[in-house]
Amino acid sequence: MKQRPTTVDSTVKQALEEALQRFSSNHHGKNASYIPYLASVPSHLFGISIMFCDGTHAQVGDTDYAFAIESISKVFTLAHVLDELGPQALRSKIGCDPTGEPFNSVVALELHKGRPLNPFVNAGAMATVSLLEAQTPQARWEQIQATYNAFAGRQLSVNEEVYASEASSNQHNRGIAWLLQSYGYMYADPMEVCAVYTRQCSVSITCHDLVTMGAALANGGVNPVTGKQVVAAKNVAPILSEMTLNGLYDTTGDWYYKVGLPGKSGVGGGILAVVPGVCAIAAFAPPLDAAGNSVRGQLAAEHLSRTLNLSLLH
Ligand code: GLN
Repeated sequence: MKQRPTTVDSTVKQALEEALQRFSSNHHGKNASYIPYLASVPSHLFGISIMFCDGTHAQVGDTDYAFAIESISKVFTLAHVLDELGPQALRSKIGCDPTGEPFNSVVALELHKGRPLNPFVNAGAMATVSLLEAQTPQARWEQIQATYNAFAGRQLSVNEEVYASEASSNQHNRGIAWLLQSYGYMYADPMEVCAVYTRQCSVSITCHDLVTMGAALANGGVNPVTGKQVVAAKNVAPILSEMTLNGLYDTTGDWYYKVGLPGKSGVGGGILAVVPGVCAIAAFAPPLDAAGNSVRGQLAAEHLSRTLNLSLLH
């Protein structure tokens, strides 16, 4: 059995180069288009980063290109709310089970009497935002922003163009927010919550930011670059279990089968995988499969997991 690397070395660099070379010419999938801005992002972009718990990192391709975090934001809002309320409250108010339906499904909500089942479908993510204790929308937003900044180890910003694009096309999410309210799973004003949720999805990150954020989860909640505890160590396992079960929506099982790691994707083309105690992998490539997951991002993660022996199942 191959040794797992614990720091950047020549095997790690080689595996990154191979992944870039092997999958750059893969043109499967399509950019998300239901959010108009995302359709305009150049489809050829491709970046892959890895960061170990010792803070060493390596990257190939377009890892400095800023893209919309989208659903990957759900992981970090969850981290904040877990620190406020604890895992038990989260589990009883939202849940940690797959819906088996697409991330924006209304059917899944109706089937379970409005219970969102997990914090990574849009319904559960909005319920999570609503659980955060805040008196005003601004205060709610600022808490989320502060958590993301701590994870990334720098001041992130919202791409206002993305926000405007999403805010003008998020009628479906607004519908989900009202539905949650009608079933008693919305814990603040639904339209205010939907706006904050839309804003969190519009945060701009690079692959390097994403891998740093993931490395903090790999490293027991401590950002390996800043050395700061950004989520309580005891809340890391609940986050990783949600990622294991629900990180790639209705194809999470397929991902786990191939990669063997907790992951999270976003329709902006970003994808994150976490190897607890070892490292994080982040990739960015805009074209998505039918479930909304980056095609090349998944291939890159699978390649790294296999060649570096990172799967948790080995
Ligand atoms: N903002 C997007 C939405 O609410 C995020 C979805 C995603 O990345 N899967 O639809």
